[in-house]
Parts: sequence; structure tokens; C-alpha cells
Amino acid sequence: MVKDTKFYDILGVPPDASESQLKSAYKKGALKWHPDKNAHNPEAAEKFKDLSHAYEILSDPQKRQIYDQYGEEGLEQGGMGGGGMAAEDIFAQFFGGGGGPFGGMFGGGMRETGPKKARTISHVHKVSLEDIYRGKVSKLALQKSVICPKCDGRGGKEGAVKKCAGCDGRGMKTMMRQMGPMIQRFQTVCSDCQGEGEIIRDRDRCKQCNGKKTVIERKVLHVHVDRGVKSGHKIEFRGEGDQLPGVEPGDVVFEIEQKPHPRFQRKDDDLFYQAEIDLFTALAGGQIHIEHLDDRWLTVDIAPGECISPGEVKVIRGQGMPSYRHHDFGNLYIQFDVRFPERITGDDEGGPMTQEQIDALAKVLPRQTIPGPVPPPDAMIEDFTLDDVDPTREHARARGMAGMEDEDDDMHPGAERVQCASQ
Ligand SMILES: [Zn+2]
Ligand SMILES: [Zn+2]
Repeated sequence: MVKDTKFYDILGVPPDASESQLKSAYKKGALKWHPDKNAHNPEAAEKFKDLSHAYEILSDPQKRQIYDQYGEEGLEQGGMGGGGMAAEDIFAQFFGGGGGPFGGMFGGGMRETGPKKARTISHVHKVSLEDIYRGKVSKLALQKSVICPKCDGRGGKEGAVKKCAGCDGRGMKTMMRQMGPMIQRFQTVCSDCQGEGEIIRDRDRCKQCNGKKTVIERKVLHVHVDRGVKSGHKIEFRGEGDQLPGVEPGDVVFEIEQKPHPRFQRKDDDLFYQAEIDLFTALAGGQIHIEHLDDRWLTVDIAPGECISPGEVKVIRGQGMPSYRHHDFGNLYIQFDVRFPERITGDDEGGPMTQEQIDALAKVLPRQTIPGPVPPPDAMIEDFTLDDVDPTREHARARGMAGMEDEDDDMHPGAERVQCASQ
């Protein structure tokens, strides 16, 4: 005589129902009340859950025995009541995982229990700007596990691998201990199969994989670094990752990372270059030479009288990076540093500029009036000359504003550290 018939009632079977009766009752009910078939019926979801829970208990001989003897209370005391398997998991296990009976019929209903996949192997592929400019194919080798070709992933001779009877292939065993009226349950690793769920006799064990079912293989992949590709771009090799028995092979993903370049900075398809010229070239013209990314040298003319000011940016159109999957190029921007002469002297002894020199300069470079403060006619006026700053003695003062900026900089790393710590 059973203590409580609730779970039997849920399944609609008598308390002396056989295992196969339970099975077919669950199957009928689960198919009828599955949420995929009852999207707008919340009552069905409850029923499905109750049905799954009842089946979970009654299909396990140990649990059924406790339930029959002590009712639901007995299961709770033994730690078997709550926190059981999710209804969907029981359903998937019953119908053999995978797509389940509704695969295809109810599109996407079984997403969470879909086929398992081996992990994705991710790798950052660092590429020079030269290689991105020209495009290239990188051959990259990786170590991955593949299904053992000798035993086809069985781990041993055909028919020699047996499901462990001690744990029914689960690798874990549920042990019971009676403590007065309480029944304590605990999980342990199955000692018959050491948690493998399978038994292979030593002499039948595959010699190549030693029963592990997979072997490590070195695989070379050809990664196409397309012209103009950008950092963060991902190149995917579907199914080229690890192989494991019973699961879909994983993927390999390479992420392009552009290495910093000593001459050029890149922003999208444009290149930025710093050129230093002297004041004479800035005013009277001349040439600069730029080594490009494909072994070409660009000779750039600065026209006489172009008057390039310090920090000015000029552009050579179409000499930037090739744009990814388009047939044009970005631009090459050149920023000029203008180096001024240290001093213009009037003679070899370093004397002051002569009036002739000043007149000659004024001829091509007439004095411009720059708007600025002008003293009123009645202002008190004092005269001064400029001294050079001695960088060894007047370091701090000479830096002036720059010194303040430095202090500001010093604060940043500290601030970041605080941020990191609180994350
Ligand atoms: Zn093998
Ligand atoms: Zn076992």
C-alpha cells in the first residue's frame, strides 16, 4: 500500500504501474502538454512541469521506493524533493536530447537543448601594416583534438566498449544511507568505471588514443589577410576546431589585430605621417621622401612660397590604405614639423643680424601686423630684452604650463587603478 498516490494520479496510472506503463503515460502527457504546443496556455506549462516531476521521481526505482513508503515528505527529507531536473531536461533526456520529437515541427522550440558543440578556438592574429596594405595569406598551425581514426572515437575495439552497469553510463552513482527515519542521499563518482560511464577491458583499449577517443593533431589553416582589413575583423573556420565524440566539431576564429607601425598611423582607410622640414624648405620649397608600405618611395615636392607653418597638415590623395573590398584607396595626410634656425647671425663670430640681412628678409617676408594689445599713448613704458632659458637650471620654471600638465598625467594611472579595483 502506498502512502500517497498524487504522482501516480498526475500520470494517470495505478500505483502498481510497471516501468513501461509509466513511460508511455509520461510520453502521452508530455507530448500533449509540452509548452511548444501550448504557447498560449499557461495552465499547460504547469501541467508539463508537474508531469515531468512526477515522472522524474517514479522512473527512478530508489526515489519511487521512498515516495511509496514516505510520500513526498520523505523525498524532501532525503533531499530529493525540490531542485530536481528542469522539465525540459527530463523531456530531452526521455526523447534522446537533440531536436526532440518536435524538431522541425515547431521551429526552434528546443533551442536550449540543441546539439552540443565543442568549444571555439579563438586566436588573435597580429599583422603588420605592410601585410594589410598588400594583403597576404598566413599559414597558421594549431593543435586540436580529432576523433581517433583507429577506433573511430569508440575508445576500443568494436563491441568492446560497454556501458557501465554500475552507474548506467552516467559516471555518477547515487548512494543512500538510512539514518533513523531519514534517508540521506549523496552522489559519488562511480567506482566501476572511474566516472567514465563506460568500461573497456585493458586489452581491448585502442592503442592509438589509449581509450581517450580523441588524439591531438596539428592542423595548418590558411588565413587570408585581405587588403585593407581592419583590426577586430574576424575570420571564421566553421567546424575546424576540436572534435569530440557525440558533439558537433567546434569552430576556429582568428581576429585580426594590426601591429603599430613606426612611420604611419592609420585611421580607417587614411594614413597619417609626420614629416620634419626646416624653415627654409617650408618657405622656399624643396622635397621630402616617404617610404611607403609596398617598397615604393614617394618624393613629395613642396612648392617654393607654399609657406608651410608648424603643425600644418597637407594631403596626398589616394596614397592611404586600400579600402576593404572596394577598389579605391584612402588618403595620406602629412603633418609638418618646421624646424627653425637656432639663431641667424650677422657674421662667423655669431654677431647680430646685419641690416642687409634684415632688408633681404623683409623683401620676401614683409612684416605683418598681428592684432594684439597696444599700449595707450599715455602708458608708462619700460623696455626689456629676452634671455635664453638655461634648461639645466630653470627646468621646472621653463616648463611652466607643461609642468602642470605632467602633474595631471600623474593622477591618471592612480585613478585607473581605483577603477580597476572596484570592477
Ligand atoms: Zn582510438
Ligand atoms: Zn560506472
